Amino acid sequence: MSAQVAAAAARRVRGLTCRVCGRLYPQQPLHYCEDDFGPLQVDYDPAASALTRDTITARPPTMWRYRELLPLDGEPIVGAGVGMTPLVLAERLGHELGVERLWLKVEAASFPTLSFKDRVVSVSLGAARELGLTTVACSSTGNLAHSLAALAGVAGMQAYVFVPADTEPSRLALARAHGAKVIAVRGTYDDVNRLCGQAADRFGWGFVNINLRPFYLEGARTVAFEIAEQLGWRAPRHVVVPTAGGGLLCQVGRGLEEFRALKLIDETACSLHGAQAAGCNPIVAAVREGLEAPRPVQRPRTVCKSLAVGDPGDGVFALEAIRRSGGWAEDATDEEIKEAMLLLARTEGVFAEPAGGVVVTAARKLIEQERIGRGEDVVLVLTGSGLKAPEVVTDRLPPLPEIAPSMKELAALLK
Ligand SMILES: *Cc1c(COP(=O)(O)O)cnc(C)c1O
Ligand SMILES: [Zn+2]
Repeated sequence: MSAQVAAAAARRVRGLTCRVCGRLYPQQPLHYCEDDFGPLQVDYDPAASALTRDTITARPPTMWRYRELLPLDGEPIVGAGVGMTPLVLAERLGHELGVERLWLKVEAASFPTLSFKDRVVSVSLGAARELGLTTVACSSTGNLAHSLAALAGVAGMQAYVFVPADTEPSRLALARAHGAKVIAVRGTYDDVNRLCGQAADRFGWGFVNINLRPFYLEGARTVAFEIAEQLGWRAPRHVVVPTAGGGLLCQVGRGLEEFRALKLIDETACSLHGAQAAGCNPIVAAVREGLEAPRPVQRPRTVCKSLAVGDPGDGVFALEAIRRSGGWAEDATDEEIKEAMLLLARTEGVFAEPAGGVVVTAARKLIEQERIGRGEDVVLVLTGSGLKAPEVVTDRLPPLPEIAPSMKELAALLK
């Protein structure tokens, strides 16, 4: 049997279906329905009826241990080592925030580029290869650019990444170091994204977060699979998720639902809480005001650039997921973000990016409001590392003394 015949025999992806009207499309780089502009979802046979806890735990500690639940026909082409980031009990931070059982899902430790985007990129690039695409691209606030650059390089694919021109220079350097063509666009993320939507139609590239978005989103569910497995095969009572376009939050909810349906975990409820920066909080505002759809924020203004998406693509679905789960959403000012980054760094030794400061602040507020109970399990998703742009907190650090290499000066300093 040739490799091609074997691949066809093993084919699991049936196509794409519209989440609004259910219309089925053949497998292709397409993310919205031509009839109603509803978002498309990959339609595939999860082949998971036989998936048991024992099968999963016998496999290597990567996100591919759930491969029956991922939308590739063949083997992944890149990212074989992605996933299974640590879930750690954060007793010291929990004590500061006033809860007994606080866990951190540390995506800041993700291999190879220190953010949860490694998951969605490795699935998208596998799909791109199966669709015969050779050039991949993305619109990004920084982390997606970095991950796509790194993994496309490994796959031997040409990568174009588009970012707002005010992205931290250190983040741009990372993407460029991996060989991607980085294009800085003068405008907000929403401007960049709009341009990329047009470019996707024009150039026939696979934009991982646009025309390959149905595949991208499937990869994000693995965060939930891992949390449930690492907690000993159960859902936590609460998860707090930093939210930009809303994709990750929705997929964490979906991942837990699928695990329940597969009887890998029991039916206990998990509340999904969103966390955003106060300077770009369309989902938080919609939760507070009881809106059905977020009102776009025209001019995001926050130190947390990775969450600065003014017009969240999955906003309506994120609101629905939050409400259905009995969750809430809270935001954080720049001052609160930096303070919380330093609190996390001091108490747990984790230097997360500003999105980590956002999630810690949101958790603090949810606990103060008694939406999260003192004895309930709560997981904070730390989606990215602060090491990519550490200068964010410099203005909050104590002065740095400088002395001559002399005991006299040292003694004077320590007096
Ligand atoms: C991409 C990203 C998220 C989640 O983004 P969504 O668009 O809501 O899926 C959260 N935190 C960080 C650091 C990210 O890079
Ligand atoms: Zn439709």
